[in-house]
Amino acid sequence: MAKPILLLNCGSSSIKYQVIDAETEQVAASGLIQRIGEAGSTIDHEVGEAEHHIEEPFADHAAALRELVSLFAEVGPDLSQVAAVGHRCVHGGTRFSKTTLIDESVVDAMRELSPLAPLHNPPGIQGIEAARAVLPDVPHVAIFDTAFFTTLPAEAYTYALPTELAAAHHIRKYGFHGTSHSYVSKKVAEFLGQPYDSLNQIVLHLGNGASVSAIQQGKAVETSMGLTPLAGLIMGTRSGDVDPGLHAYLGRVLGLGLDEIDALLNRQSGMLGLAGATDFRDINAKIQAGDKRAALAMDVYIHRLLTYVGAYIAVLGQVDALTFTAGVGENDFRVRAHLIKRLAPLGFELDEAVNEVRSKEPRVISTANSRVTVLVVPTNEELAMARETLAAISQ
Ligand code: ADP
Repeated sequence: MAKPILLLNCGSSSIKYQVIDAETEQVAASGLIQRIGEAGSTIDHEVGEAEHHIEEPFADHAAALRELVSLFAEVGPDLSQVAAVGHRCVHGGTRFSKTTLIDESVVDAMRELSPLAPLHNPPGIQGIEAARAVLPDVPHVAIFDTAFFTTLPAEAYTYALPTELAAAHHIRKYGFHGTSHSYVSKKVAEFLGQPYDSLNQIVLHLGNGASVSAIQQGKAVETSMGLTPLAGLIMGTRSGDVDPGLHAYLGRVLGLGLDEIDALLNRQSGMLGLAGATDFRDINAKIQAGDKRAALAMDVYIHRLLTYVGAYIAVLGQVDALTFTAGVGENDFRVRAHLIKRLAPLGFELDEAVNEVRSKEPRVISTANSRVTVLVVPTNEELAMARETLAAISQ
């Protein structure tokens, strides 16, 4: 392989990884380490057609990565030639507006940002430190989920709180899933054969997590996630927007503490709370079986999407492309059809037959008459990260 790049996405007890050749953009290997710090840690490693499964207790991220490097040495691909390691980092605050070569000062700055993303940044930092210890001779690069949204104008990112308080504690809208919104919106421009900075776009990243962005002539100007990835659309287990008064209400009425409310809104709400399932395949099956809760959940999900898309059309003034991506957006033709039908009064027109065709390729699903071109474009966050990493080490 000419320029293999190792990409790491570290959670609190898991590490997702891929090796991508930055020149051919082919995936050489991929895998998942789970239950780090528990008795039953596992590695599931795929290389070519071969799958390898390892069960061994890993005390921490460092132990897991040491085992991973010896697994690579045994079954391939050869990591000794790795050109760089790219780390997915959730929160870059206002400090990181682009992909950044990692040194001690970057790790220190990420540590300072940890209160903004207590669930995500600390494991990310652990992963960076462990990977730098295991692969000390290659450049390590941080790719931030928030970076794409550092172009938001102040009017969009400012919350109506006392200015001094917000400034002292870095309280503002940041936005997340930026790597995906950036990759997909650029792919749309390429697919339509238009310059990126000539298009106004709305991107709907609808996966387990979900967010929508408005991109004006190549710059993100609005997005639905906020200070944290809890805001905005309804997600698999996250509530999205609720009245901020809900916290005080739950505290008063049920005596819930802040951590309990945080867990309730992040892990027990969204489609799980409404329909009793997070996977849209299960939710659709329930609806088809006549489950009224699931039907209401879908209506609420679509209504929330509609209110965001309507608002972003107003923000952009004129929209060239609206694109669905991620697990739900790429696969669930019903969700796409429900939303686009609701947008018919604004000149959106869906080609229903094309919408129902399954494909892994970028495609237009609107008719030639539609005022806005509607697309489905598969996201590929790992490939986007590999490109970012290559660009950062080539500078
Ligand atoms: P994550 O946010 O975890 O990266 P993904 O973008 O992979 O999530 O999306 C996962 C979700 O995609 C699943 O929970 C499921 O709801 C949805 N999904 C995947 N495949 C299908 C399908 N064939 N039909 C409908 N929904 C699907």
